[in-house]
Amino acid sequence: MTSAIGMNELLAAALDAAMSSGASYADVRGVEIRAESLGVKGPAVESLERFDSLGFGVRALVDGAWGYACSAELDAAEAVSTARVAVEIARASATVMTAPIELVPEPVHRDSWMGPTEHDPFAVTLEDKLELLTSATAGMQVSPKIRTTRATMDLLSQTTWFVSSEGSSIDQSFVQSAAGIEAVAVDGSEVQQRSYPGSFRGHFASGGYEVIAEMDLVANAEQTAEEAVALLTAPLCPQTVTSVVLDGHQTMLQVHESVGHPTELDRVLGMEAAFAGTSFVGIPDLGSLRYGSEVVNINSDATISGGLGSYGYDDEGVAAQRVDLVKGGILVGFQTSRETAAKIGAQRSNGTMRAEGWENFPLIRMPNVNLLPGSGSFEDLLADVDDGIYMATNKSWSIDDKRLNFQFGCEVAWEIKHGKLRRMLKDPRYTGITPVFWGYCDAIAGPEEWKVWGTPNCGKGQPGQTMRVGHGTSPARFRNVSTGVSS
Ligand SMILES: [Zn+2]
Repeated sequence: MTSAIGMNELLAAALDAAMSSGASYADVRGVEIRAESLGVKGPAVESLERFDSLGFGVRALVDGAWGYACSAELDAAEAVSTARVAVEIARASATVMTAPIELVPEPVHRDSWMGPTEHDPFAVTLEDKLELLTSATAGMQVSPKIRTTRATMDLLSQTTWFVSSEGSSIDQSFVQSAAGIEAVAVDGSEVQQRSYPGSFRGHFASGGYEVIAEMDLVANAEQTAEEAVALLTAPLCPQTVTSVVLDGHQTMLQVHESVGHPTELDRVLGMEAAFAGTSFVGIPDLGSLRYGSEVVNINSDATISGGLGSYGYDDEGVAAQRVDLVKGGILVGFQTSRETAAKIGAQRSNGTMRAEGWENFPLIRMPNVNLLPGSGSFEDLLADVDDGIYMATNKSWSIDDKRLNFQFGCEVAWEIKHGKLRRMLKDPRYTGITPVFWGYCDAIAGPEEWKVWGTPNCGKGQPGQTMRVGHGTSPARFRNVSTGVSS
């Protein structure tokens, strides 16, 4: 840090200034982010971006309304003036608010938390990273029909310091690492793509360079490219109603869009719909809405290791928790904040408030929303399908604002005949209505197939914030699904 004063001193100065200016509650958050993104196209470096950010934000509650102000100038005078601006904004907001904000209690925490990192990815030389990525793109040159090969790597290191007027003082830091490869095959006007381990820059997880090493990009390059070429001549996914098995990556997106977002309590409460979006779920549905079949169990869990939504405390100083959202197919929980928990009479926030950086006011953001594993292998899921389709790797998605009607496209599919995978199918898509679709889920593969995926680009808020969220999933089977061809 290059500050004239230390971060702890700065946060204390801002907190004092907010309280002495009339706040009934305040918290101050310092955030330092270091990120690096690499991209290789064919044999050449396509992009190399580095990003560093350090600043702090003050959140003040005055007369029952929030104010927020932030700065990247790390000195005592700036700490005081930023805190006063937050208080002034809150005071002005209070004159137009409809109901005063109340916060449910949270124990005072004085703690330090660190995510898992075995091998610091920022200590790996650029030469070594590019060598890995170019070896992977070279490994995908299996045919003249392979038109484009790409390999990417994304690294993030973040430290957060948090103090509140209630006495909490928390610092936490984590590292997240990601990598992926993709091959694009072309024949005339036909274009097909395959990615590994997932689309949209691959697989993201909390952890260091060991996360990337485990993916073994180079060893998977050939098969990834061969599947892209094979898709060029594969028949189209049929338009029918049939049994569908989804791989873990597509199940991740299905959980994200149709369970993660609609169970965010700010959406459920319809708080500033433009800001957060809305939900087909209502408060009276808690404990009674049949969200899915009896095998569907989904939780929100920031305490698991390795997810993009794994942390010790959220950005309002609430300890990370594991909360059931759907149990035995019934809606039993929401993702909450201290403010929204108070609105529904809950005793405690379940700790899901996060901000993209120091510039942003925290919002309810899903941590790791997980589809809990059932039992049996992937082959067991197929074994009970006489005639169906297996779809893998998300390619596109569309879902309405209430998170009810959706359409997903995948990169690839295979016919399932008499319990076995047969011909490859191209351009698969399926459509559904959230509770109907989950109601037809009749099997989820077991813990041995379960993996925590990450999606780094979840958008929410106005101005928009991009958040990194995790989803533990196993492949899952759904009956009576409408399938067709994606555009
Ligand atoms: Zn999202």
